Amino acid sequence: MGCHEAYIHYYFRFLGRYPVAKKTLAALTEQDLAGKRVLVRVDFNVPLDQDQRITDDTRIRAALPTINYLRERGARVILCSHLGRPFKKDKATGAVQLVKEGNSLAPVAARLGELLGMPVAFAPDCIGEAAAQVVQGLANGQVALLENVRFHAEEEANDPEFARQLASLADLYVNDAFGTAHRAHASTEGVTRYLKPAVAGFLIEKELQYLQGAIDNPRRPLVAIIGGSKVSSKIGVIEALLEKVDKLILGGGMIFTFYQAQGLGVGKSLVETDKLDLAQALLTKAQARGVTLLLPTDVVVADRFAPDAQAQTVPVTAIPADWMGLDIGPASVAQIQQALQDCQTVVWNGPMGVFEFPQFAVGTRAVAETLAQLTDRGCTTIIGGGDSVAAVEQAGLAGRMSHISTGGGASLELLEGKILPGIAALEEA
Ligand code: ADP
Ligand code: MG
Repeated sequence: MGCHEAYIHYYFRFLGRYPVAKKTLAALTEQDLAGKRVLVRVDFNVPLDQDQRITDDTRIRAALPTINYLRERGARVILCSHLGRPFKKDKATGAVQLVKEGNSLAPVAARLGELLGMPVAFAPDCIGEAAAQVVQGLANGQVALLENVRFHAEEEANDPEFARQLASLADLYVNDAFGTAHRAHASTEGVTRYLKPAVAGFLIEKELQYLQGAIDNPRRPLVAIIGGSKVSSKIGVIEALLEKVDKLILGGGMIFTFYQAQGLGVGKSLVETDKLDLAQALLTKAQARGVTLLLPTDVVVADRFAPDAQAQTVPVTAIPADWMGLDIGPASVAQIQQALQDCQTVVWNGPMGVFEFPQFAVGTRAVAETLAQLTDRGCTTIIGGGDSVAAVEQAGLAGRMSHISTGGGASLELLEGKILPGIAALEEA
């Protein structure tokens, strides 16, 4: 690396980007993979019902391209993941207790086997003799899943000895767990110190391509739509995106903090009174940067926070004192649709209203429908954030977006320009 290159390298690192692309699975040769034991960190943190049935297997399906690629090249695939939060804190005593029941990955092994059309061996522990035996039994092209890495407290503590034991099962490492890439845990970060090459899987590659591509090198105009409940959880992303976007559209519960900052009455709407100055500062910053910032002009207010509340649509300048805003109104939807007409790239994080109640899901659904139509016209549409993705899925429109991120917190941190330790630890291309 020359001096100039080193400087640029450092500079971009400082900005929290990965301009030096990460090495991916596709860069490995047939020889690198044939007969090799490959430890793959996946995100199989799926929702389970009370009978341990998987209620949504999206995350398992998202890992299939990487798993199948490895199988086809004769690798022995060793999958590891976390599921849930097995360490429970007793509220009364404060003591921390490990609860394995309901947090086992065994049901995931069964489901993955169905999806792959072949049995998936399940190891009852992710390290030690139990894991080693299952790995030894793997033939080329076969797949094993290790039990929940979070059954060991050392996982989240990023304990080096635990990471070394995990690494000792394999010859090389692939990280494809985008949803956990913002955590420096033993199976996402620690393990890369003992297992090389350490490369990105296809899911992480795709997430970076869309989420990072959208902010670093977008087709313009680039528009961000930011909603959700609180300004405080979105400050970082709004600030970062103000540097990048041509237009910023705000919605959701956070708008009321902006209105109050401007001296409007917001009734009983959600307001973070300690963020009023900040809201004002963000408005000023948008103006200074020449970013078009759109706040809704009308809202749907309710007499209480309930699905069957009484509701009415009012201009934001006339919110009744005893009512609370739970959705954006039709005039605002029309305004958003207008603003999106010429855009080439849209990033959406955070619902426009309390979409969990059908009566207040109208604004969110309308925005989702508009984005689906824009995608059809060639616009790149990217959805990040757990609830935003849930809202788009609920509307049945997930298949019509360019990219639906599998990582809630991770996608937000990436949009904020933060370094994701699980990705930073991977080798450069
Ligand atoms: P994401 O998970 O997509 O990042 P957030 O977690 O930030 O989104 O916000 C989602 C939550 O915001 C939803 O539970 C939704 O009910 C809530 N929300 C949206 N609009 C309002 C509002 N006007 N008042 C209260 N809560 C709201
Ligand atoms: Mg959320």
